This record gives sequence, structure tokens and C-alpha cells, in this order.
Amino acid sequence: MAETKYIFVTGGVSSSLGKGIIAASLAKLLQARGFRTTIQKLDPYINVDPGTLNPYEHGECYVTEDGAETDLDLGHYERFLNVNTSQANNVTTGRIYQSVIEKERRGEFLGKTVQVVPHITNEIKERIQILGKKKEYDIVITEIGGTVGDIESLPYIEAVRQLKWELGDENALVIHLTLVPFLSAAGELKTKPTQHSVKTLMESGLKADILVCRTEHELSDDIRRKLAIFCNVRQEAVIQSIDAPTIYDVPNLMLKEGLDTVTLKKLDLPDETTPNLEQWNKFLDRHKNPKAEIRIGLIGKYVELQDSYKSILEAFIHAGAENEVKVIVESIHSEFINENTIKNKISHLDGVLVAPGFGERGIEGKIDAVQFARENKLPFLGICLGMQMAVIEFARNVLQLKGANSTEMDEATKHPVIDIMEAQKNITHMGGTMRLGAWDCHLKEGSTIFNVYGKADIKERHRHRYEYNNKYKEQLEKAGMLSTGINPETGLVEVVELKDHPWFVGVQYHPEYKSTVASPHPLFVAFVKAAYEHSKNKA
Ligand code: GLN
Repeated sequence: MAETKYIFVTGGVSSSLGKGIIAASLAKLLQARGFRTTIQKLDPYINVDPGTLNPYEHGECYVTEDGAETDLDLGHYERFLNVNTSQANNVTTGRIYQSVIEKERRGEFLGKTVQVVPHITNEIKERIQILGKKKEYDIVITEIGGTVGDIESLPYIEAVRQLKWELGDENALVIHLTLVPFLSAAGELKTKPTQHSVKTLMESGLKADILVCRTEHELSDDIRRKLAIFCNVRQEAVIQSIDAPTIYDVPNLMLKEGLDTVTLKKLDLPDETTPNLEQWNKFLDRHKNPKAEIRIGLIGKYVELQDSYKSILEAFIHAGAENEVKVIVESIHSEFINENTIKNKISHLDGVLVAPGFGERGIEGKIDAVQFARENKLPFLGICLGMQMAVIEFARNVLQLKGANSTEMDEATKHPVIDIMEAQKNITHMGGTMRLGAWDCHLKEGSTIFNVYGKADIKERHRHRYEYNNKYKEQLEKAGMLSTGINPETGLVEVVELKDHPWFVGVQYHPEYKSTVASPHPLFVAFVKAAYEHSKNKA
């Protein structure tokens, strides 16, 4: 293919309509037809990246292989496409301005007044085309965060308008995602919000080529005709996106609606191929027809919000399908776990996962949960902070090191079994300064973790400042907490497991970021399997 084609996905009427899932589903269909496709997300907020955002504000922070702290939609892109994303796949207004201001300071615009148009819009256009210019992709899908009409989105919409004009209609198209609400009092679906949102888009000089309409009810031909006429799109380009039981149904729903066919036609690309979704549908089939059910407790402090542990929840879906079991995840708030409540909250479970996190709130409950899993031989997986809590619990209750802690929670602890990395001690800036991205890890032959991966050398993604303190390694190992995964360069302990336990693993890295539909993460697969075995033994 000669030139990269660009698809822009904008949103109207309401936020949270699932632009990311639509973009990922379209990308999946195009990929399944043989087009090399990638997705990018432009976020209109002023933070340079979401790394400094609380999960309550913005859901999980997703970490890429190259160590970028990004929007959780990139997780969906990787899970759907099984292709790595990178820093270039997520751009925020903060990053755009930072870069333009740095250029100004370097004197790159000498003599000129630096303005939103053209300087900011040029920077946006450049960022959009970075992926396309790599010549690695036939199609780049760019999702614009926010809703049209927002003040923050304006420079992005203007950049897309310019770019579309420069690239030509056959090389760029706009998909606008809107909501068609159902008014139960009138018993009708309403098209007016969509009409207004398309009008808002047009006020900025941008025309929607395809409309994707989120709806709770089927769109009749009449409604489709009405939307086409008033919104200036062809009727075949009015695509219904009906609520689905799982996000993994959306590619098939979009296929049925012909989203990929209209897209290819508009971009002047061959559409005689049919998408090969064999592997995808095999996964769906297993996901929808489980042979058994297991219950896993997810112990964290952001459990009220589904988005905070997005990648973990999705990794359980992949691993459940692989094991042909349904994983029911019970979110348990660690602040409400204590001596009196623990039995009630945990004893019926088949496995316990202690989640990643930052700060002191809720950690004692996490430590109690680890202790329960250790003493009652419940399968246990600790991720990042969860692994650190496992080390602290073992130090306190097995080694009898009273007050053992992480220096993150208690700087003056007598037994800092988890401590800040030397390299981190002088860091004062918060953004992008943790140990981030993929790091090598060497696994001890014969260990549980070695058997999980079936190999000794792995690479996993990190996001933390604190580490297992090697000064306590000998004591911990002697008492039965083995360090079975080590960073070959630094000697840092990345994996711990217990000798006298059926399945107890703590990992300093985040396996959840690498689990995809096509390649479920082996650690989640093995954990679910262990929990399934546990449930069978219980019965
Ligand atoms: N707060 C811990 C650290 O910084 C763990 C981070 C995490 O769980 N991602 O080391």
C-alpha cells in the first residue's frame, strides 16, 4: 500500500460511549483482513500523561513496553490487536504544549508569536502522523478523547480538519460516535442529540463520514434514514452499536453492521477479503460456555470503580476462557478487612489477588488477606504492592520482625523489608520517574514461576518506586519465602513464592498489562487453574 490511511474517531452527545472499544473493534476487523493497523489516543487534558492521576479520576494507568504511562484505552487496543503500543500511541494536551514550549525556548520559532493555530495544531498533526510515517502501518486510527464542543477538544478538531484537507478524502475519514437515547415515556429512540452533535462538529468544519450510534434498542430503517438525511451521511454509513453483554462481542457486531466495509470503501481500499476471526471466535465461544465457576477475591482500595483494575479484570476473562471456567471476581475493599471480618470475606473464595497500589490507606487489610491465604493454603497472587505486602506479612508473622514495613508506608520502620531504590532517592519530580516499562527477569529452574512460563528468561512491565530489600533475602529464603525471579542486571528480586504452599506467587511487575485475547497471560492462566483445582478439592 502506498500511503498510510488515517481514521479519526470523535465522540458526541455524552462521554463514556465506548470510543475506545469501537476504535479497537474496527482495528480488529481491519487487522483480520490483513491490514497492518494501529490505534492512537489523543487526550485533551493538561496532565503530561495519566501517571499522576488518581484511578478515581481516570481509571487505571496503563503501562506500555517502552515505559509510557498511558490511558487505559491503550490496554484495549493491545488486548484486541495483540500488538504492542508505545509512547507515540498516547498524546495529551500537556505533552503537546510541553513540546511546543520547549521548541520556543530553543528558539525554533524565533521572531514569531507562538499560537494555538498553527503551532499547537501543527504539533498535533505531527504527533498523529508519527505512527503513519514509520511505514509500519497501513492504517492509523486516532481516537480523540472527550466530546465535541468541549473547549479542550477544539485544537484537536481543528488539527483533524486541516489534516483531512491536506491528506485528501480518500486518505482520511471521520467516524463520529453518538448516543441515540430511548425515551421510555415516549417509547421512542431520539435522533435529535445526534443531529446537534453532528452540527457542532460541522461548525468546526469537520464532516462525519460514518456515524456509529450507541443504542439500547435496534435502530429501525426509518431512524437510520432520518439520521442519514439530517446528518449528511449515506444510510449504509449509519452504524448501530447496540449494548452488548461483553466488549469482546463488539467486533462481530460491527462486522454485521458493515463498519469495516464502509470504512474500506470510503478509504478507497480493497474490500474483497473477509476478516478472519477464527481465533477470536474460539475465545468467545470458550468465554461464553464455561464448564465451571470459580470465585477470586480482588483485594484493593479502588474497588468501587471497574476501571481502576481494568487490565486485571480483563486478564481474568482471558485466563478464564483458556481454562474454560467462569471467573467471578469479588472486589473486596481492603479498608474493611480486619481480624473480625476476614473469615466472612475470604474463606469461601478459591483464590486471592492482592492488587497494586500506592500509599498507606488499606494496606493492613491487604496484609491480613495475605496472611489468610498463606495460612489457609488458598491460591494467592500478589501484584506489585500486593507482592510487597506478601513480603511484609511473611517478615512480620513468620520471621517475627515486629513492625516490618515498606519505607513508603513507614519511613522509620525498624525492618524496611521493602525499601526505596537507591536510584530513586534523589528524585523530586513525580511524573514518569518510577521504574517503568519492560525489564528482564531470570527465573529459577524448577520453581512454580518457571513452570508457569515454561522458560527462564522473561520480560515484564513495571511501575513502582519501592523494591524488595535484598538485606533480608537470606532470612526470608531460609524461612520458606523463595526469590525465584531476579533481574539479571541489578539483582533485584522480582518474584517471590512460598515453599510450603500449593500456589503462592508475588510479582513485582504487572503481568496484567500483557494479557491479550490471542495470548492470555500464563501467570493468570496458572493462577486461575490453581484456583479451579482448589475449588474442586473443596467440593
Ligand atoms: N507503591 C508501590 C511502589 O511504588 C507499588 C506500586 C504498584 O503497585 N504499582 O513501589
